[in-house]
Amino acid sequence: MKLVFATHNPNKLKEVQQMVTDQIELINLNTIGCTTDIPETANTLEGNAKIKADFVTDQFQLSCFADDTGLLVDALNGEPGVYSARYAGLKNDSNANMDKLLDNLKEKQNRSAHFKTVIALNLNGKTHIFEGKIEGVITENKRGENGFGYDPIFKPNGYEETFAELPLSIKNEISHRAIAFKKLIAFLNSIHVTG
Ligand code: IMP
Repeated sequence: MKLVFATHNPNKLKEVQQMVTDQIELINLNTIGCTTDIPETANTLEGNAKIKADFVTDQFQLSCFADDTGLLVDALNGEPGVYSARYAGLKNDSNANMDKLLDNLKEKQNRSAHFKTVIALNLNGKTHIFEGKIEGVITENKRGENGFGYDPIFKPNGYEETFAELPLSIKNEISHRAIAFKKLIAFLNSIHVTG
């Protein structure tokens, strides 16, 4: 079975391909000739994941899954949430995003937050949703060099290190994204077994 992963990133695709059975062949957006930067206009992570999966299913008549991730900070009513990539304005300026977040939390006592990944899978006319979450706190300062995005200021509960101080192998084992993808993969592998 061919299944589209709505990403332009070949590394992301490879990582997931290694976890699914050989009977499922994952293909990325470039392979199906989709060069559009699909607009993420919903105000929830689930909404944006669905928009991306639906775009591919509607335009290309293919089964597809798409993911969306955000950092949700309790004292900021869930900000930056769906706006995590562009919190400070420009898309994916991680340093500016972290500076803005640290500044907005300066006067707050409660620094708890969680990362959340939502995956929407369109398969055989149905949409399936998978979620992964990791709870933690926002540190006072940036610490560490690994990872990307908000990793230097997110310390998962149960660890002394931020995501950027932990080895990538540990982050990739415990992260929001890992949890959501493990659920997707278990589902895909099980439908294959039962037919
Ligand atoms: P995306 O939906 O995976 O593109 O994630 C949206 C934004 O959330 C990214 O641009 C990052 O700013 C942030 N983000 C997502 N996953 C992580 C993570 O694992 N660590 C730190 N930041 C992340």
